[in-house]
Amino acid sequence: KAKQQGRNAYQWFTREITEKVGERVALRNDLQEAIDGGQFELHYQPLIGRGDRLAGVEALLRWHHPVKGYVSPARFIPLAESTGQIMPISEWVLERACRDMQALAARGLGQVRVAVNLSPLQFHRASFLATLRHTLQRTGLPPEQLELELTEGILMDDTEAAIDILHALRSLRIGVSIDDFGTGYSSLSYLKHLPIGKVKIDRSFINEVTLSAHDAAIVQGIISMAHHLGLAVVAEGIETAAQHQRLTDYGCDIFQGFLLARPMPLDRLEAFLRARLPA
Ligand code: C2E
Ligand code: MG
Ligand code: MG
Ligand code: MG
Repeated sequence: KAKQQGRNAYQWFTREITEKVGERVALRNDLQEAIDGGQFELHYQPLIGRGDRLAGVEALLRWHHPVKGYVSPARFIPLAESTGQIMPISEWVLERACRDMQALAARGLGQVRVAVNLSPLQFHRASFLATLRHTLQRTGLPPEQLELELTEGILMDDTEAAIDILHALRSLRIGVSIDDFGTGYSSLSYLKHLPIGKVKIDRSFINEVTLSAHDAAIVQGIISMAHHLGLAVVAEGIETAAQHQRLTDYGCDIFQGFLLARPMPLDRLEAFLRARLPA
């Protein structure tokens, strides 16, 4: 009986795995079609500074699968990382973001800063800096208008090499922020060695900042430390007015979240920016 059950469990288990692997293979093939067939789109989420000043936008990748519909980047980016498909995708994202900001400028909407998320693979490629420089040259986007978002993990992989790249970015006048700050293994002290401009406090701390004394303490600690190091602080995932108020009280510099604006396609961003222009 036990043996029978064991076998059933085993069969169930292998079927489960086979399905998972099958799904990954399918998704990987679909990703290739998405890359070749231009199924990706970039959306932009405004970053709002104190006093309702526009601090920039974050470029967020969107994939509309012809059958499955919307697939979250949280799902396909890790897969694309493991297959290497992230490289062509990332190059497309960078180019698109630069071109879109140039289009906004050409339509009289000002020099909007754009933050682009980097993948670890991209950052550690020998060709990374050259690709960046070429993309800026080709699109004509002033480097001051570009910001790169890196996670703590990217910097911990090979800290010495990462610091060299960060210095190179700084001399190119490209901005750098640490994304999802507080979720990695970062000892806070490593920040003092890094030539970066901003930290973005992870959404998980913002979620409960008005409910949990612990999260409130962590958020205040991050803001205080970042400011002492001369860094600006962004809070991501602001969904309620209470969270916005609390972070304002704590001295946070920049706010991002559904309360203020959702990620939107370029035409909607254009309307959003136009509505904010002085009459
Ligand atoms: P992230 O860089 O931390 O981006 C912020 C995520 O939080 C976005 O999810 C955004 O839509 C979401 N968000 C913003 N405000 C709120 C809010 O108030 N409430 C909630 N619940 N969510 C909010 P999204 O667009 O699904 O992207 C997920 C992650 O996928 C990103 O996290 C980033 O790590 C990755 N990603 C997105 N686009 C790219 C890309 O072009 N390249 C790379 N390498 N990664 C990307
Ligand atoms: Mg980000
Ligand atoms: Mg983030
Ligand atoms: Mg995040």
